[in-house]
Amino acid sequence: MKFDDYYISEELKKNLSKLGFTKPTDIQFKSIPPILKGEDVLAIAQTGTGKTAAFAIPVIDILHKRRIKQRAEGIRCLVMVPTRELAQQITEVFEKLSRHTKVKAFGIYGGVEQEQQITKLNDGFDVLIATPGRMFDLISQGHLRVDRIEILILDEADHMLDLGFIKDIQDIKKKLKQNHQTLFFSATINETIKKLAYSLVRNAIRIQVSPKDPVAKNVEHSVVFIEMDDKRFFLERMIKENPESKILVFVRTKVRAERVKTAMERVGIESITIHGDKDQRDRFGVMNRFKKGDVKILIATDISSRGIDIPNVDYVINYDLPDKSENYVHRVGRTGRGREKGLAISFCSKEEKPILDEIQEFLGSKITVIEMSKTEYKEILEVAQEKEGDTNWKSVIHEIEQNEEWLKKKGKKPKR
Ligand code: ADP
Ligand code: MG
Repeated sequence: MKFDDYYISEELKKNLSKLGFTKPTDIQFKSIPPILKGEDVLAIAQTGTGKTAAFAIPVIDILHKRRIKQRAEGIRCLVMVPTRELAQQITEVFEKLSRHTKVKAFGIYGGVEQEQQITKLNDGFDVLIATPGRMFDLISQGHLRVDRIEILILDEADHMLDLGFIKDIQDIKKKLKQNHQTLFFSATINETIKKLAYSLVRNAIRIQVSPKDPVAKNVEHSVVFIEMDDKRFFLERMIKENPESKILVFVRTKVRAERVKTAMERVGIESITIHGDKDQRDRFGVMNRFKKGDVKILIATDISSRGIDIPNVDYVINYDLPDKSENYVHRVGRTGRGREKGLAISFCSKEEKPILDEIQEFLGSKITVIEMSKTEYKEILEVAQEKEGDTNWKSVIHEIEQNEEWLKKKGKKPKR
């Protein structure tokens, strides 16, 4: 079945075709009809399978056709997401899909001035995409009305319900229109959260695509055993062996992100970092540069593990294993999106083996191990260390030479 055959508005069809979406993905095929019918839906499908459009398409169609009231009366659909980057990304998808329809979408998130967002909110919107912190602030300050909301969506639903906002979400639901529709989307969900999710919906339709293996089928993933202190040499080697590749490197903490960046800088590799300590404008800037491919290496914490849709990421490297098993699925799911294929490699040290076991238990299967002989391991290490020595020496000489040139130009004698 093609989108052309769907009973959805012509404007929406045109927008889909402009994006190059001709056929629905599995999750879209299964979710669109029940959402259009007004059912509550709990949908689980692997990363990169088009979950955003699976809810955006029917929501836009519903609001486009149902719209009779004035926009000033308040927003009609609320999409809650865990991070600011994701709020921005999903807002963009809504904007692209709702062009020339009667539906207008807007994103609100923390880390930037709220005044501008308040002014914008007063213009009136139909769909609001929001991170919880800023949203609850705006509601409590009386800038955001939720009583007209007909559809509530939680993207990355398991994480949203796990973030400690459950009480707020329950409270919000009491304020929404009585017969509102609730939609949950995610790539992962555990039993506890599933129960919680069910307590928030009415007779939800449960849609699950490929439940056996939570890792997306387009991602080939493996693990290699590398000691903590040696990881940087192996990362350097991987990057240098794949000079054209776009690589997303995940680390455990903000501090480690900066350290890995410095280590790469020392061996002449340019990279950028993204984590929670960065100014929000920086974060958006970094994400855009990586999306465009201006910088090929992005070092990130788990803040970027969920939902972010970056085109053409060739490799995901788990420089450190994730603390939460489900984040393994989300991290490796940053590659192999849509029809693309992707590769993911995890560096696992001795200390991290228990974490690896937990991840494998979560996945319900073993991760392929890349075998490396001791000699091979040592060789890689020696070459990298030798080169590191070289690079340092060379860069010191280069620095001295440049300094001398500069002094000469200024007519001064270089000091030794
Ligand atoms: P998920 O939320 O499931 O991880 P996204 O909604 O971010 O996935 O979509 C992943 C990618 O697939 C995006 O780049 C999106 O543009 C693309 N995509 C979504 N639906 C379709 C479709 N029907 N045809 C082609 N590409 C699609
Ligand atoms: Mg998503």
